[in-house]
Amino acid sequence: MNLKYIDIHSHLGLLTLEEDKEKIIYKMMEKGVGTIVIGVDYETSLKAIEIANQRDFIWAGVGLHPTDNDKEIFDIEKYKKLSENKEVVCIGECGLDYFRDSREEIKQKQKELFMRHIELALYSKKPLMIHARPSKGTQDAYEDSLTILENYKGVLSGNFHFFVGDINIARRALDLGFTMSFDGPITFTTDYDEVIKFIPLESIMCETDAPFAAPVPYRGKTCEPWMVEEVYKKIAEIKNLPVEKVEEVIMANTKRIFGL
Ligand SMILES: [Zn+2]
Repeated sequence: MNLKYIDIHSHLGLLTLEEDKEKIIYKMMEKGVGTIVIGVDYETSLKAIEIANQRDFIWAGVGLHPTDNDKEIFDIEKYKKLSENKEVVCIGECGLDYFRDSREEIKQKQKELFMRHIELALYSKKPLMIHARPSKGTQDAYEDSLTILENYKGVLSGNFHFFVGDINIARRALDLGFTMSFDGPITFTTDYDEVIKFIPLESIMCETDAPFAAPVPYRGKTCEPWMVEEVYKKIAEIKNLPVEKVEEVIMANTKRIFGL
């Protein structure tokens, strides 16, 4: 299959997509779309590897999502085994999510879990897939994750998924050599235009976070990885570049970061 796009962050293993998985994969093949299926706990990480095993244009990420911290005791030895699988191209999603609960004890527990994922990334020599969601009107989850990551400058690589940070945050992420990925919302709000213009194309990737956040013109529908094409088009429009150029550079970024 001739790969044109890679949706670097989808949840093909989640139940909402599971029923239609074969249909979705067929559509991805038609449109030349690959994806990295992201686990949010042990079960879905295992599932992500299983799906990735079946197709050569699908890869996997393994990790425990910060908001699932209480649902599972993070057993790093089990995750180390998963991370050794050749289908696994990143560690995550992992990170800090202060959106619904930003009490100090919650922050502390999430930071500890994030540290375990850093340990896993160092062990597996694979990049981090970071989920950072600040509490309303702040950049706190970005500031805290960057403060941690800055201790590993030059040693760790990774990507901030579903990036909603401001230019200062983007600058700190770039300084670490990290990339940022964008998804559906950039097609229906101009809130991200400024930061997208600021970040060099060489540090941008595209994703869907399927089944969440479908882009225009599919809003309100279940999001599927092949819809990532719309995100590429929007990046091209915001950066005032030909879409072919954007496809080419972002494919190169994706292959470089994840070693595909
Ligand atoms: Zn996700």
